Amino acid sequence: MAIGMGGNEGNLRRAFRLARQRLFPLLRNPKMSPIYRTSPVGGPPQPDFLNAVVVGTTSLTAHALLTLLRKSEIAAGRKPGGPKNGPRPLDLDLLLYGSRRVATPRLQVPHPRMTSRLFVLVPLADVAPRRVVPGTGKTVARFLEEARRRSTENVRRARASF
Ligand code: AMP
Repeated sequence: MAIGMGGNEGNLRRAFRLARQRLFPLLRNPKMSPIYRTSPVGGPPQPDFLNAVVVGTTSLTAHALLTLLRKSEIAAGRKPGGPKNGPRPLDLDLLLYGSRRVATPRLQVPHPRMTSRLFVLVPLADVAPRRVVPGTGKTVARFLEEARRRSTENVRRARASF
């Protein structure tokens, strides 16, 4: 299981800590990537994001995980509404759930945009480079290589570590 974390509004140290504290107890062998500072992709002009990825195994279902992610976003101060792709204190996405594929209106796994976004692939490749993205036959490292060739996204290691 892999979860993408991001945020660019308010106290990010607090938001990332909160996400970690809520997620880690529910995972076996939880591991968090280094944190990256990334320029926003789409949306209105807004501050840079901090992004990281958490991996681990869990007995929770994918939908139960999604509910937990939403609750954690709200606990970190996220308000419903607001501009699409606009600033937010915490964004949590379920990227991968083992070798499963989920396609419901509420949940799509693997996350549909994860294979093109450097702000997801760079931290994910730090903790799970050889993981095959279900339905593609390609590893995270391979997707990263391909995305690096195409993308102009600016992703660099942040000094922050929470
Ligand atoms: P966001 O603005 O990224 O927080 O998008 C949240 C919406 O995406 C919610 O309505 C979720 O139900 C939906 N969604 C679909 N697939 C996923 C996923 N794999 N992880 C997180 N949210 C998802």
